[in-house]
Order: sequence, then structure tokens, then C-alpha cells
Amino acid sequence: MKAKRQRWIAHVDLDAFFASCEQLANPEYRGLPVVVGARPGHRGVVAAASYEAREYGIQSAMPISEAWRRCPDAVYLRPDMNRYRQMSRRVFDILATVTPVVEAASIDEAYLDISGLEGLFGPPRDVGREIRKRILTETGLTASVGIGPNRLIAKLGSESCKPDGLRVVMPDAVLDFIGPMPIANLRGLGKKKQQTVARLGVDTVAQLRAVPLAELERHLGRKAAASFRRQAFGEASDKVVPDRQRKSISKETTFGTDVTDEHVLHDTLRGLAAGVAATARRERLAGAIVTLKIRYEGFETHTRRVKLSSPTDDQRQILTTAWRLFHHSKLPVKPVRLIGVGISGWDSDELAQADLFDQPAAMQQDRALLRTIDDVTERFGSGKLQFGAGPPQPIDNKR
Ligand SMILES: [Mg+2]
Repeated sequence: MKAKRQRWIAHVDLDAFFASCEQLANPEYRGLPVVVGARPGHRGVVAAASYEAREYGIQSAMPISEAWRRCPDAVYLRPDMNRYRQMSRRVFDILATVTPVVEAASIDEAYLDISGLEGLFGPPRDVGREIRKRILTETGLTASVGIGPNRLIAKLGSESCKPDGLRVVMPDAVLDFIGPMPIANLRGLGKKKQQTVARLGVDTVAQLRAVPLAELERHLGRKAAASFRRQAFGEASDKVVPDRQRKSISKETTFGTDVTDEHVLHDTLRGLAAGVAATARRERLAGAIVTLKIRYEGFETHTRRVKLSSPTDDQRQILTTAWRLFHHSKLPVKPVRLIGVGISGWDSDELAQADLFDQPAAMQQDRALLRTIDDVTERFGSGKLQFGAGPPQPIDNKR
């Protein structure tokens, strides 16, 4: 019997990406604390902080007022998303020269399946070195690279060696590598679940392994218990899905009982729009067509779509557009069984042009905030940070 071939996943994470882009473009900022985000004196958060700024305790998602309190002398900059996106494209082009199996996790993060590249580059460590070298020499950016038998270990690897590092975790070293880590390092463990687990006297991944599965299930539920236990033993997916040219992004919800309450419909739609927008931003897509899908009793399904004047990946615009469609596209007025929203109609070159010439400046500036929401959601679970949950817009009720 042939032994299963070892899989190797690399997680590539650019260091302090927005801030590094600024330091590259403006040499006078090099070596200085640089904070990219909201304007000091205004509401809003830090989108990125250079490593010099992090020495003052400044971090992404921190209120800008707090950053200012810690270091008023830092260089404060508004995000220049066009610059970051262009740089991101260059980095992804470089990654594509290593392997076609590249999956974007965000504008500055990617998973690569580097299994079977020994013949080209040598062992995994050499692949990691080559990735870091190519990025640095061709862009001037530093990247941290974690390599391991699956995505979780690769990601924890890159986190553990930031900035400007390389960490390879061999399969037989996985348990020792993650054992001393705080349980917060596992994926999908939000604050609430962390507290639950902490009350069991469990702080580290190694301690989590010692908790009997039945006890874990009692406190976390079956699904979460199984997931965290697997992760505690270093097991996770090793699938890397190359960014395919998908045609649309959509999310939908089926209600347990049919819904007539517009607040419920609007809230549901808000959550769905946020999910669609987050996926779009992660995959660096923006759609000019917004589609609303409504199903009533008996599988009676209607879709309505509208074309925007420019592509969007902003949940607010998706929500507003879908809500307008709901009210103004002659849909039957009766209880709703399923509601869904999606975007489509993109072309990344077209989008780049639109960004340069006709996207309102305010929208561009918002993008860093959206990214921060994505980051925080990824790390701490959804619902931690979102746009204000207001009541449905008072659009007149002619449906
Ligand atoms: Mg990064």
C-alpha cells in the first residue's frame, strides 16, 4: 500500500500591509510609527499600524483616539486603497509564479498548497524562503510565512513568526507547537465560548486536549466541541481552493416559520448583505448587479435585480438596494419563507478604473473600515463589529 503523500500548506501574510505600503511609497516615513485609519479627532478605528507604532501598543481595530493618546507623534494617514490593491495584485502575481493553487484569504493574506514542489524548489522550508525572497525583491514588502500540514498550523505558523519570519512546523512537531498556545488561537472560538472554556480551568490548547469530549459537548454543543477538539490535536483542513472566476456571490436564509414582520426581514437582509460584502472583499470582487430572491409558500420564487452605476462590495449599498427592490418591484405582499441577496457583474480591470475615476472619495476611505470589520469578524466571530443596526428605511409601502 502506498503511503499517503504529505501535504504542505503555506500561509503568506504581508507584514503591517497598509502601513508598509505607505512606508515604501514615502521613504520619509520609514522607521517612524505610521498609523493608517480614521482621522485623529474623529470617530473610527486604526486599519493598520507599522511595527514602530505597535511598540506603543497601537493595533488594528483600536479606536483612533486611543492610538492618538498612546502616540500623538505618529504619522497618521488616511487609507489609500488603490495603492494597497495594486500592491496586493503584484504580490498575488508573484505567488502565482510559485504555484497556481493560491487562495486569497484577504487583501494581504493567502494560502498556498505547496505539496509536491520539492522537485522545483526543494523541501518546504526552501519554498518558504523563495516566496519571501521573491516578494521582497520584487515589491520591497516583507511577508511572514507559516508552513505546516494544514491551514490551521500554517496560519498559526505565520502568526508566530511575525514580522519578517518563516516558520515550518513538521507534522511530528504540531502537538508541541500548539500545546502551549492560548485557546483563543483556535478558529471560531469567540469571546463567549472562550469564557465558557476558561471556566473549565482550560487556558491552553494542551489543557483543552485533556477535557473529555462529553464534557466539552455539554458546555459548547456537539459541533463546536468536535471542531475545537480536532483543532486541539492539530487537525484541520488542508484544502486550498484556488480563486476561481465565480459568477456571483449570494447568501440566503430560509425561515422556520414564514415571516411578515418587516423588521425581521430587514435584519435578516442586513446580515446576508454583510456576508455577501465580506466574501466579495475577501475575493477582491465588486458587483454592479444586486439580486434579491424571495420565496413564498409552495416554492413560489421571485428574483429581482437592478444594475448600479458602479460596482459595489459595500454591505450598506447592497442592503439599501435589496430593500428598495423588496418594496418597489411589484412583489406579492404575503408571508416570506426565504430571503436572499446576491451580487454579480464584475470585471476587476473595470473596477480598478471605476475606483480611480468615479468612486466618491468617501467610499474609498470607507474601505479600510470595511476591511477592519472583516478582520475583526474573522478573528472574533461575527457580530462583534458591524454597521449600526437601524430600523428599516421608511420607504413607502407600495410593493
Ligand atoms: Mg497582514
